[in-house]
Amino acid sequence: MITTWYEAELIGSKEETKGTNRFWFRINSEQPVEYEAGQFFTFDLPIGEKRLDRWRSYSIANTFDKSNIIELCVSYKKNGLASEYFFNEINKGDLVKFKGPEGNFIIPKFEFANIVMLATGTGVVPFRAILQKIDQEKIKTNNLHLIFGTRKYKDILYLEELEDFAHFIDGLKIDICLSREKKLPKNLKNIHFHSGYIHQIYMNLDLKIIQNSLFMVCGWNNMLDESVANLLTKLKVDKKNIKLEMFG
Ligand SMILES: Cc1cc2nc3c(=O)[nH]c(=O)nc-3n(C[C@H](O)[C@H](O)[C@H](O)COP(=O)(O)OP(=O)(O)OC[C@H]3O[C@@H](n4cnc5c(N)ncnc54)[C@H](O)[C@@H]3O)c2cc1C
Repeated sequence: MITTWYEAELIGSKEETKGTNRFWFRINSEQPVEYEAGQFFTFDLPIGEKRLDRWRSYSIANTFDKSNIIELCVSYKKNGLASEYFFNEINKGDLVKFKGPEGNFIIPKFEFANIVMLATGTGVVPFRAILQKIDQEKIKTNNLHLIFGTRKYKDILYLEELEDFAHFIDGLKIDICLSREKKLPKNLKNIHFHSGYIHQIYMNLDLKIIQNSLFMVCGWNNMLDESVANLLTKLKVDKKNIKLEMFG
């Protein structure tokens, strides 16, 4: 199969939280480049000689809307080649090459009684696109439960939007776990704050909910490995009811 490569221009960027920036690109294509909320694009960045050294994938942070504008939300890793490029090199007007969309980390067409979404850090990015789609298109879903882990209150990505989603999307509940926050903020409508890690939240779900849920898990390998081990061995969730997106 021939891969189609697209070109996109950086049209803006903004710090979302310390060490994590949002980037907006306009795709240079007359036809809208379609994708599903939850999918990712792979970028060929000017960061190496060999092709494979230059490729990095990023979840698309916004839902498809025919504007050909896509948003990425990238966390900085010291000395990471793509991190250095995104945080210290790229300028407004620069062009990047990318291919895709790829991935099956999308909400299924068939019905689950509940969808439990587990994320830490930028792992929340595909869920942001999914929730934006559900909110904007007024898609009817059953119960949605986002369990999102981050270090401190000030590190919570897309907090204002999460508040809006929790308000406007029927059946959405959000738990935010803060692993390094001494004083917990006040709970909001449908958003509860906790100390510690995400694992304590889904491990304590009702058995009935566990048995009737699709678990969607996104993040880096250590969080993913621990969550999957817990789901499979401790909660006895069927493998087919777990969807994963691993960042690395
Ligand atoms: C499908 C997919 C979607 C992705 N979506 C996003 C996204 O939305 N936002 C985003 O920021 N990144 C995302 N990534 C990760 C991204 O592709 C890069 O790996 C990341 O930006 C680091 O690249 P780098 O060149 O700066 O670091 P590298 O030099 O490639 O980093 C070396 C290694 O360090 C580890 N590492 C890097 N960053 C972290 C981190 N924050 N936490 C733990 N370990 C880390 C990884 O194992 C990585 O291979 C995604 C990856 C995949 C596969």
